[in-house]
Amino acid sequence: MNRNNRNRKGHPTLAAAAPVPRREGAAARTLRAAAIARRLATAYPGATCSLDFASPFQLVIATILSAQCTDRRVNLVTPELFRRWPDPAALAAARPPDLERVIRSTGFFRAKAKSILGCARALVDRHGGHVPQTLEELVRLPGVGRKTANVVLGTAFGTASGVVVDTHVGRISRRLGLTRHADAVRAERDLIRLLPRDEWIGFSHRLIEHGRGPCAARRPRCEDCPLADLCPRVGVAAGRRPRTAR
Ligand code: SF4
Repeated sequence: MNRNNRNRKGHPTLAAAAPVPRREGAAARTLRAAAIARRLATAYPGATCSLDFASPFQLVIATILSAQCTDRRVNLVTPELFRRWPDPAALAAARPPDLERVIRSTGFFRAKAKSILGCARALVDRHGGHVPQTLEELVRLPGVGRKTANVVLGTAFGTASGVVVDTHVGRISRRLGLTRHADAVRAERDLIRLLPRDEWIGFSHRLIEHGRGPCAARRPRCEDCPLADLCPRVGVAAGRRPRTAR
């Protein structure tokens, strides 16, 4: 590979490999997904959850707060929240206006307060104050959907129950041609089919970091991307060589 086939960060460019075909078969896509996973592992070796937490309980609450909000903002709010209400029993007894005041800056604070109080009460009433360790039990908690349950199981318990599909993972998976679904559950189903189970947790942490780096929502920096030669750039604006992969 000559220097012209490397971008300015030293990663292979699209010109360095055979282009991703417009109609890619399932076997070829699986191989490409494996190559993407390997490349991401090299590019983001320390990628992990960016929410601060000290227990599964704290991670459940922080993840509920992270809806429509940055993890950085959540991390500014949770120290005060867990100082005042350190466990499910204390949080279940919180006055809604007090809780709303503490979490207000994360947005949608009334709905989030309702979910958090309901979740804390359910943890106390149904699970003895402990966070359950199955997807089925987690998604029955108020405010906890499949994404939050996958985050908690993967990050707090090391259980690969699925692939966390947040806004970054969904967007980049579509650009990479690994799914065409905007719906998170359908996108997750595609990713689960393409990736071995032992990649599920790390893959989404790394893709989230990639979304905070070169593959930004508005202006992806494909010229700096370590995946450039593996990416068909589906839906990326004109001038960055968009192509339909499926
Ligand atoms: S930055 Fe560009 S090349 Fe890299 S994953 Fe995103 S769309 Fe693909």
